Amino acid sequence: MTDAEPGTRKGILLVISSPSGAGKTTLAHLLAQRERLEFSVSYTTRTPRTGERDDVDYKFVTEDEFSRMIERNEFAEWAKVHGSRYGTAIHTVNRALEDGKDYLFDVDWQGGAQIRRQWPEESVLVFILPPSMAELERRLRRRATDAPAAIEQRLETATRELEHFAEYDYLVVNDNLETALKELSSIYVAARCARTRRGHYGHELLDEAQAQARGRPASQQ
Ligand code: ADP
Ligand code: 5GP
Repeated sequence: MTDAEPGTRKGILLVISSPSGAGKTTLAHLLAQRERLEFSVSYTTRTPRTGERDDVDYKFVTEDEFSRMIERNEFAEWAKVHGSRYGTAIHTVNRALEDGKDYLFDVDWQGGAQIRRQWPEESVLVFILPPSMAELERRLRRRATDAPAAIEQRLETATRELEHFAEYDYLVVNDNLETALKELSSIYVAARCARTRRGHYGHELLDEAQAQARGRPASQQ
């Protein structure tokens, strides 16, 4: 990986995945607020849960609309999860890359893998783990936004999601929410400070120092 040239900084694609119920949506929204990160609103064919708003939580579309978007290559990635389709709009990723804006993506492991494959230098992948499987089940049942059959399906899929934790750069255990948020913030701040994203500051300063040194009389060099 090479240092970014001045003025060419690309946005960070911060990807967050977890088994359903681990608290990824809660953490993603808190992080977006705290760090003023843009949240990538996905398209989905699933029906809205009580309280979910179109265009804020998801862009809710029909199966036909989703299929048309695939045909028109409008997705950066998409996947079938828990029987519904979910996808990230390509224009969101383009905005991150062209305007240097950092974006937060709440996607499953298939989405994480597709983003990593296409943008290996810009993506940072974080996997959220529940403190235990019993607590994961408690959270899913307490959330009570899904029908009992949907909860069973999410518990089954949890194992398949967990199988992919090792493909991620960072792991955050969401036991205490405040601690998990602090860890997630730290990961994002560290990514922003990576030499590969900040290198141009070093180069600029070095150029300035060298120019000054050249201008000094030989006795002072
Ligand atoms: P996900 O997006 O991973 O499916 P949610 O963010 O919807 O999960 O969280 C699942 C449920 O667990 C929600 O009711 C949420 O309020 C709750 N929750 C999230 N984090 C914690 C935590 N650290 N401790 C206790 N409950 C939590
Ligand atoms: P939920 O229905 O609980 O909101 O989300 C179910 C799963 O779909 C979660 O694992 C979530 O991360 C994932 N998901 C949400 N949006 C996208 C997306 O745009 N792409 C992919 N691949 N997964 C998504």
